[in-house]
Amino acid sequence: MDMGDKTGRHQEFGTAHRLNALRDDQMPVTAERILAIFDTLGLRSTRTRRLIAQRLATFAASGADFTVQELWQELREVDPQLGRATVYRAVEVLMSQGLFHCLPFGDGSCRYRLCGGSHHHHVTCTQCQRVAEVSVCLPPELFATIALTTNFAIEGHFLELFGRCADCRNTLL
Ligand SMILES: [Zn+2]
Ligand SMILES: [Zn+2]
Ligand SMILES: [Zn+2]
Repeated sequence: MDMGDKTGRHQEFGTAHRLNALRDDQMPVTAERILAIFDTLGLRSTRTRRLIAQRLATFAASGADFTVQELWQELREVDPQLGRATVYRAVEVLMSQGLFHCLPFGDGSCRYRLCGGSHHHHVTCTQCQRVAEVSVCLPPELFATIALTTNFAIEGHFLELFGRCADCRNTLL
């Protein structure tokens, strides 16, 4: 379940798919919905969790991505007592439920992002870290060939793309 966190990868197979199936993609990610997830997982809906849920809902609404560090710094301005571990745990719970995706950084940490529901990959700008969703995937024939040549039943894959976005390319000109 927490493989995505350990590898820092965007998880695309097995458990992730089943958990993602629980996600209703027509439903906006509101603070109430996040709190409901905290509740079903036995996390008490304290003032702290409400604070976290509200901030995450605004990230979800704006489509912005964030690191746990950034989220923690912001929330500490409201609640100076808030521990980093609490924020980290809350975000991990939501990622395990398929609500946010981890976009891996080179150092193995994640930027978290609320993504569309259908199968996709990401392309990340190496300069400004902007992320775009990529709706194309590798062709099924390629997976069939790989399955055949390795004699593996292929169950999933990672595909992360990196490059420079138009703005970053332009500033170099
Ligand atoms: Zn994604
Ligand atoms: Zn860029
Ligand atoms: Zn794919």
